[in-house]
Amino acid sequence: MKIGGLQPVTLLDYPRKVAAIIFASGCNMRCPFCYNSNLVLPEQIGLSQLLDKKQVLDFLVRRKKYLEGVVITGGEPTLQPGLLAFCRKIKKLGYEIKLDTNGLRPEILQKLLDAKLIDYIAMDIKGPLSQYKKFCGAAIDGKKIKASIKLVMASGLPYEFRSTLVKGLHTKEDIAKMARVIKGASLYYLQNYHDQSRPLLADFKGGSFFNKEMEEFRKLASGFVKECKVR
Ligand code: SF4
Repeated sequence: MKIGGLQPVTLLDYPRKVAAIIFASGCNMRCPFCYNSNLVLPEQIGLSQLLDKKQVLDFLVRRKKYLEGVVITGGEPTLQPGLLAFCRKIKKLGYEIKLDTNGLRPEILQKLLDAKLIDYIAMDIKGPLSQYKKFCGAAIDGKKIKASIKLVMASGLPYEFRSTLVKGLHTKEDIAKMARVIKGASLYYLQNYHDQSRPLLADFKGGSFFNKEMEEFRKLASGFVKECKVR
């Protein structure tokens, strides 16, 4: 398990829980708007120091009195060969686990679900399946994304799908297509892209939507899912 970062506490990232966030290093996508290039690009990962797994677990032991959950995010956590064993250790400490995933490794998601090692799933929907490469920067197999969506929705766990929307990249039609692919989902978050100094692609020129536009997208997506929120 390669850990690129630890946020000791968050009140925002795990619904209704005080949690810590563990950032896994490495990703199988290259979303041009990614906020975490230091966890994605090998040359940047090489520059930052990885955290020792034992020290992270010791931290969780010490904080058990104050924390209820652990968010495992990335990068893409399902790429880590030691993910199941690591989750098992965290569960043994009495924590609930939220997994953030891009959905490209449904076989690992299945294993985590079978072993009852996760309690909440947040899965990204990057763009319409037919053009995923444009949005995630990698040639992916859409069947894998579809399989993960199916697993998430049938998991019986609380879950959310979420999309970061970028002006200049996503269109209204794209948003309708993305919502259609998760038709019937209980919760879909639309996240407005915020400009950043170091996007993953140095020449990336995406922008943010106006609040009015985000509300319009929310109404559009609400026609496909049980609840759609903007954040
Ligand atoms: S899936 Fe995309 S946004 Fe998420 S860490 Fe990987 S490159 Fe960044």
